[in-house]
Amino acid sequence: MFKKLIGQRAFSTSFSWFLKASIEGNGKVVSVNEGSKDPLKFPGIWLRDNCQCEVCYSENAQSRRIDYSDFSFKVKAENVEITDKVLNVNWSDNHKSAYHIDWLTDRSFTKEKQEQYLNEFYRPPYQTWGKSKFKDVVKYFEFDEVIRDDKVLKEWIETLSTYGIALIRNTPKDKTVARTLANRIGFIRQTTYGEEYVVQAKPNATNQAYLSAKLQWHIDLPYYEYAPGVNLLHFYEQTKTKGGSNIIVDGFNIAERIKNQHPEDYQVLCEVVVDWNDITVEQDIPYHNIWRAPVINLDADGNCTRINFSIPQRDSHFNVDVDKVIRWYEAFGKFVNMVKEETMLFKVNEGDILTFSNVRLLHGREAYDDSDANVRYVVGAYMDWDIIYSKWRVLKNQLANRH
Ligand SMILES: [Zn+2]
Repeated sequence: MFKKLIGQRAFSTSFSWFLKASIEGNGKVVSVNEGSKDPLKFPGIWLRDNCQCEVCYSENAQSRRIDYSDFSFKVKAENVEITDKVLNVNWSDNHKSAYHIDWLTDRSFTKEKQEQYLNEFYRPPYQTWGKSKFKDVVKYFEFDEVIRDDKVLKEWIETLSTYGIALIRNTPKDKTVARTLANRIGFIRQTTYGEEYVVQAKPNATNQAYLSAKLQWHIDLPYYEYAPGVNLLHFYEQTKTKGGSNIIVDGFNIAERIKNQHPEDYQVLCEVVVDWNDITVEQDIPYHNIWRAPVINLDADGNCTRINFSIPQRDSHFNVDVDKVIRWYEAFGKFVNMVKEETMLFKVNEGDILTFSNVRLLHGREAYDDSDANVRYVVGAYMDWDIIYSKWRVLKNQLANRH
C-alpha cells in the first residue's frame, strides 16, 4: 500500500490520493483536506444549493435550475467521501451530489482565492491618479490594432477601467469611427441626445456643450439613474487656436484624497442626496429627467462606483433636512478646491479618440474661438460598462483558450 502511494505521487501531479472529506458542525459544514494545506470549509447549504447534477444544474444554460419551491433550508450533509478527485455527498433530503475537487477549489471561501477571482473576472481594480501622474497614466492605442487585434482590444479596456482614460490614435478621417469603435465592443448606448452626438458650436444653443465658451467640470447625464459609463469622443476636427483644451480630473482620486484629509466631509458627500436634473427639448421631444444621489457613490466594499458632478444639471430643489444644506456646501467646497488643484489641461490631437469613464472623470473644455476658419468638430458616443466588462471577460477566456 505504501509503495503504491509513493508510486502515484511520483508519476502523477494529482494529489487526489491525499484528499479527505469530513462533516462538521452537525452536518452544516463539509471540510475538505488536501495534504498538509489548511482544510477548505464549505457550508453544506451552499453545496446543496450548487449541486451540479442534471436536475439541479443546467450545463447548457450554465445556471442553477433547482426547484426552490421544494428546497429545504435545513438540509444537512449525512455522508461524504472522495473518490477520484470527486467529493460525493449524501443529503438529508435524500439527494446525492458530486463535485470535482477543481470546481470546489475554484470556489474556495478563502480570502486569497476570492480576491484573485474578483480581480481576474469581476473588474480590473482601479488606480487613482493626480495631475502630476497624468503623463504616466495616459496611454495611446492604434485604432487599426484595436479593431484588428483582440489582445490590444483587451489592453485598451483594461487601461480604461484601471485609470478611467485612454486615447486611440491614427483613426481614418471619417465621422463614423466612434460608432465603429463602439461596435467593436458591443453597441452604442442611446440617450436623450441620440446615439452619436456632435459637439460643435451651434448658434442659439441651449446646452452649454454646444457653445464655444468654457465648459466647466462635469460628468454627462448625472440626472440618469443609469448614467452612461464610458464616453468616446472622436476629434474629427480640432481647433487650431490656443483654446479648446480638454479639462480632465480623476474624480475617484478626489474622493480618496478627501477621505484621507477630511473624513467627515467625505462622509457628507457620500451620504447627502443631491437632486440632479435636466429639462430639455431634443428633436422636438420634451424631456424632464431627475436622479437623486450623493456626489460620491460607493459599492458595498466601500469602493467608488460613481461620481456625480455638474453645476448646470444640479437642481435648485434640494430635498434634504435644512440643517444639512450648509454642511453639504462646506464639504462640496473642499471637493471643488481639490478638483481645481488636480485639474489637468491637455489638447487632444485631431483624429484621436478620447475614451474615458463618464462616471469617474470630471471633464470639460476650455473656451475656444469658433469661426469658419477655426472649427472644432467632435463626434461623441456612449457605451455602458456592463457591455464593456462583458467583452473583457469574453476576451480573457478566448485569449486564454487560444494558448
Ligand atoms: Zn442535484
